Amino acid sequence: MKTIQTYSFKNKKALVRVDYNVPLNEQSEITDTTRIDASLPTLKKILADGGSIIIMSHLGRPKGRDEKCSLKHLLPYLKQVTGVEIMFAEDCLQADAQAAQLKPGQILLLENVRFYKEETDGDEAFARKLASYGDVYVNDAFATAHREHATTAVIARFFPEDKLFGLLMQAEVDNLNQVMNNPKRPFTAILGGSKISTKINIINYLLTKVDNIILGGGMNYTVHKAMGGHVGKSLVEDEMLDVAREMLETAKKNNVKVYVSEDTVASDRFGNDAMRRIFPTDEIPDTLEGMDIGPKTCLNYRQAILDSATVLWNGPMGVFEFDNFSNGTFMVADAVARATENGSFTLAGGGDSVAAINKFKLAEKFSYISTAGGAMLEFCEGRELPGIRCIVDEKY
Ligand code: AMP
Repeated sequence: MKTIQTYSFKNKKALVRVDYNVPLNEQSEITDTTRIDASLPTLKKILADGGSIIIMSHLGRPKGRDEKCSLKHLLPYLKQVTGVEIMFAEDCLQADAQAAQLKPGQILLLENVRFYKEETDGDEAFARKLASYGDVYVNDAFATAHREHATTAVIARFFPEDKLFGLLMQAEVDNLNQVMNNPKRPFTAILGGSKISTKINIINYLLTKVDNIILGGGMNYTVHKAMGGHVGKSLVEDEMLDVAREMLETAKKNNVKVYVSEDTVASDRFGNDAMRRIFPTDEIPDTLEGMDIGPKTCLNYRQAILDSATVLWNGPMGVFEFDNFSNGTFMVADAVARATENGSFTLAGGGDSVAAINKFKLAEKFSYISTAGGAMLEFCEGRELPGIRCIVDEKY
C-alpha cells in the first residue's frame, strides 16, 4: 500500500474525498470548521508537491439538488485557509472541462456528490465518471468511512495502483488501531449517551478487549433496572433488560469490571433550571428521572480513569447540554485530561463527547480526538469499514 507521505503528487490531479459535512447557520455560514481544518494537512501536502486537487464531499442529507446543502457556501472559508483561488463545479458530473484545465497548485471543488442518489447507491458508473477527472484517489473522509458510497469507496476500484489514505484518515486509523489492537493495560472504555440499544454492539465487542467499562448517561439506568434497581422515571429501554443482564454476565466471565453509577443527580423535569437532588441510582423516587451521575460516582470514575494506561471515551455521562447537569461529564473529561498528563493514551470520539470536551476547553489535553461518530463506533465494534478496505485491499 502506498502512503501519502512518500507519494509525489507532482503534476498529478488528486481526487480527494473529504468529509465537509459541517454545520451551517440560517445565513449559510459555517458554525464549526473542525472538519475542514482537519483536511488541510492533506490538501497542503498535495499542493506543496506540485499537484492539483479535485475535492469531493457531501453536505447534509439532500434529496436531489438543494441550495441549502450546496458546497458553494464553503468557498470563502476554503479560499481563506488554503490561500488558493478555488474553482467550483456546479454539477459534479459536468466538470470535465474544469478538471482538464486544472494546473498544479489549483483546487476544483465539486458540488455536493449527494445531489445524485448514485452517490449513496454506490453506483459504479457514477464513480467511474468522477474517477475520470483525476490521476490518483485520496480518501481523507474517516467520518464517512463506514459507508460504501460511490466516492467513499467504490471509486477506489478505478485507481488500483494510485489510491491512498489522506493524512487525517491515516491518523484516525493509526490512533484507533493503537487503542483497539495494542493497548497498554489497564485499558478502560467509558461509554455514555442516551440509549443502550445504540451502544450494545460496541460494549459487547469491548468486553473482549478491555479491563474496565465505565457506564454513564441514560443507558446506565437500563443496566441498573436490569440489576433490580429502582430508577424512577429515568430513561430505560425495557426491551433491553435481558440484553443488559447478558452483558453483565459476559463481563464477569471475561473478567471485565463494569462500573455503573452509584449515585445520581435526579430531577422532576427535563430542563436546566429544574430541581436537583442526589439519590442512590437504584433508589430514585417514581416521580424523578436521572439526569447526571452523582458526586460519589464522579470520584469513583475519576480514580478508575487515573489508574488506566489506555482510555477510550464515547458518550456523555449526563444531559451535559444543560450546565446544571454537566458536572459528571466535566469530571470525567477532566480525569481523562489528567490521565493524559500522567502518560496514559487517551482517545475520545463521537459528536456529543467531542462537543462536551470542547465546551470544557479540554480538547488539547487528550492524546487524540476522532473527527468521527458512527465510523469510530463501527471501527471499535471490530467491523471492517468500506472506506478503509477500499484502500488497503488491493482486490477491492
Ligand atoms: P448519544 O447520541 O447516544 O451518544 O447520546 C447523547 C445524548 O444523551 C446527549 O444529548 C445527552 O443529553 C443524552 N443523555 C445523557 N444522559 C442522559 C440522561 N440521564 N437522560 C437522558 N438523556 C441523557
